[in-house]
Amino acid sequence: MRFFVFLFLFLFVFLLFLGCQSAEQQPSPTPDRRPRHEMVESLRADLAAERHPSDGGGRAWIEADGDAPPTATVSSPGRWVIHYEAGPEGIAEGGMIFLQVSPFWGWSTPQTDYPAESGYTEVTTTAEGVALEAATLDRQLLGITLGGRALAAGERVRMVYGAGPAGAVADRFAERDSRFWIAVDGDGDGIRQVLADSPGVAVLPGPPARLLLILPSTARPGESVRLTIAVVDGLGNAGIPIAGEVRLHGEAAGAVLPELIRLEPADRGHKTIELMPTETGTVRLEATGPEGLEAESNPLQVTTGGSRILWGDLQNHSNFSDGTGTPEDLFLYARDVAGLDVVAITDHDHWGMLPLAQHPEMWAEFCELNDRFHEPGRFVTILGWEWTNWIYGHRHVLHFDDDAEVLDSIDPRYEHPNQLWEALRGKKVFTIAHHSAGGPIGTDWSIPPDPELEPVTEIVSVHGSSEAMDSPSLIYSPVPGNFVRDALDRGYRLGFLGSSDGHDGHPGLGQLASPSGGLAAILSEELTREGIYEALRARHVYATNGPRILLRTCFGGYRLGAEIPVGADGTTAGNGGVPGIPPNTLVVQAIAPGVLSHVDVIRSGEVVQTVLCNDERDCSFALELAEIRAGEYLYVRVAQRDGGLAWTSPFFFVASPEGGEAHRPR
Ligand SMILES: [Zn+2]
Ligand SMILES: [Zn+2]
Repeated sequence: MRFFVFLFLFLFVFLLFLGCQSAEQQPSPTPDRRPRHEMVESLRADLAAERHPSDGGGRAWIEADGDAPPTATVSSPGRWVIHYEAGPEGIAEGGMIFLQVSPFWGWSTPQTDYPAESGYTEVTTTAEGVALEAATLDRQLLGITLGGRALAAGERVRMVYGAGPAGAVADRFAERDSRFWIAVDGDGDGIRQVLADSPGVAVLPGPPARLLLILPSTARPGESVRLTIAVVDGLGNAGIPIAGEVRLHGEAAGAVLPELIRLEPADRGHKTIELMPTETGTVRLEATGPEGLEAESNPLQVTTGGSRILWGDLQNHSNFSDGTGTPEDLFLYARDVAGLDVVAITDHDHWGMLPLAQHPEMWAEFCELNDRFHEPGRFVTILGWEWTNWIYGHRHVLHFDDDAEVLDSIDPRYEHPNQLWEALRGKKVFTIAHHSAGGPIGTDWSIPPDPELEPVTEIVSVHGSSEAMDSPSLIYSPVPGNFVRDALDRGYRLGFLGSSDGHDGHPGLGQLASPSGGLAAILSEELTREGIYEALRARHVYATNGPRILLRTCFGGYRLGAEIPVGADGTTAGNGGVPGIPPNTLVVQAIAPGVLSHVDVIRSGEVVQTVLCNDERDCSFALELAEIRAGEYLYVRVAQRDGGLAWTSPFFFVASPEGGEAHRPR
C-alpha cells in the first residue's frame, strides 16, 4: 500500500511542478474541484496497515568524503556510498530494502540498468548466500529484493548511488539535510516502513547570479531601518561563501550610506546593515556587488503618518513534510536573506515521508524551534501547520497562542471544515484557505468560511492567482466559478493576503524560482504576534505575488478590509476617522519596485474601471463611486509591467443602522 501512497505523492509533486511551469500558458477549465477520495482512502489504508517488527529495522548511513561530511551541489552530479545494516530482527528472504532519494525536487532516479546514465546504482553485500535483485519502482525509488537466505542482524548491504561516469544529479535547491530515505519491508508482505533517522547530505548552492537589496516599505524620519543585502544563485539559493564588495547609491531620504560593505566568506553571501533616513520621501537604493552583479531595492516610504506595513510569508513547507530544507534553514532564510518581518512554516499534517500528525516528536521539535526564532519587534514567527484535506480543499492553520496540536485531516474526527473549526473554537487561531480556485485541489466554497476563524484568504502563491478568471498569472487547472471573487459574490467577507506556499526553502522570495510568489502586507504598528493577529482579524492586509509593492488605500476614510455602513440613498455614512476624505471616494496610492502598467477597480464581481499608470513607478488616484448598495464589495488590483501584482483586501458595504436596501450578491 505504501507504494500507492508514493504514487500519489509523485502525482502531487508532478502537479506542483506543472504549476511552476505552466502559469504563462492558457489553462484549460475543468468541470469540478477534483476531490480526491481515493487519495484519502490510500493514506488511511497505509496508516492502518499492520507492520511486522522487522519492518523499518536496522540503520543506514552515508560514507563520509574523507574527513568531511558528504555533500552535494545543486543540479550537479555526485557519487554517494550508502550502507545499510540489518537490525536485530534481520530481513527475511523475499523481504526488501528501499532507497528513495528526496522525492520532490529532481534528484536522479536510482537505477541499475544503464551504467552510463545518471543515477546508476551498484548494490552489493558481503553476506554470503544472500542474492540481491534491484529494480527501479518509481521516480527516485529503488527496490532491492533479498533472495537466497535471510539477511541476519548486523549484516550489511552497500549501495553506490551515482556509480557510473554520469554520477547522480542532485536536486536544484540548496539545503542542509536532503534525505536519502531507506525503508525496509522485513517480512516481505509488501508493507514497508521508513527509517526515521535515514541519512542525508547537505546540498550546496550554485554560483552567484543575483544580488538582492531588501528594505522595509515604511519608516518614520529618524528611525533606524534594516537593509538586507544578499547574493544568491540563479534559483535564489543562499549560503554562497563569497568574498567581495557592495557599493550603494541612490535616493536615501537623508540616510548616510556606507561607502562600501565587505562580504567575507563567513557571511555566506548575506549581510544586514542599519540605515537612518532623516527626511520624508521615498528611498530607492541601487548597488553594485561582487562579480558585476547589480541590484535595485524596493521603495521605502519615509513619512510621519500612515500605517506601518510588515511583510510576511505565512505558508511554507520544510523537509518536515514535502519541502526542501530543514525548518531552521527556512527561518534563517526568511530572516537573513528575504528580510521578512513575519514568517509561518506550515508543514502538512499528513503528507510527506513522515507525516507530522503521526510524529509528535517532530512537532515538539518544530514548536521549540519556532519559539527560538521568535523575537518580537525584530522577527515574528507564527506557529502553523497545514490541514491538507483532499476533499474540501487545503487550509493552513496559524496559532497565536501556545495551545497547538496538529489535527490530522484524514482522521474522521477532523475530516470536514466544520469539524476543524469546532476543534479550534475558542483558541487564538486562524485557518486560511489556499490555492482555492484550482491547482492540486480547489476550496469547497459551498461551506461558508467560519467568520471568526477565517477572516482572510490566500489569493496568490507559487501556484498562481486564485482571485478571478480575469486575473493575470492565473492558477493552474482553474475551476470556473470557484475563485475568491466568486466566494465574495456568495457574501463571504474575506481579506486578501499572499504567501508563497513554497516548497523550495525560500520563504519570502518564492518568485525567484517560480513565475509567481506570494507575500502578505500586514498593516500593524506592532511587530508582535498580537499585532499580527489583530491586523488579520480586522483584514488590514493586502497581497502581492512577490514584489514589495507599497499600497495605500482607503474608502471614504475607512481602512482596507472595513465594513462600511451605506444608507438607502447609496451614500456611505461617516468618514471612518480619516478627516478630509469625502464619502463614496476611493483613494489609492501605489509605490512600486517596478514600472506600473495599470490599476483595476473591482466592484461586486467585475472590473468597473482601469486606471492607467503611464509607466511610472508611482501611481495615485481618487475615484468617486455612486449608488453603493449594502452587500457590495470593492477592491483594487495593481499590475506592474513585469507581471508583479498586488491586491487590496476588499471594502465591504453593509446596511447602515437607519436601513439601506440590500444588494443581492450574485
Ligand atoms: Zn496546500
Ligand atoms: Zn501548502
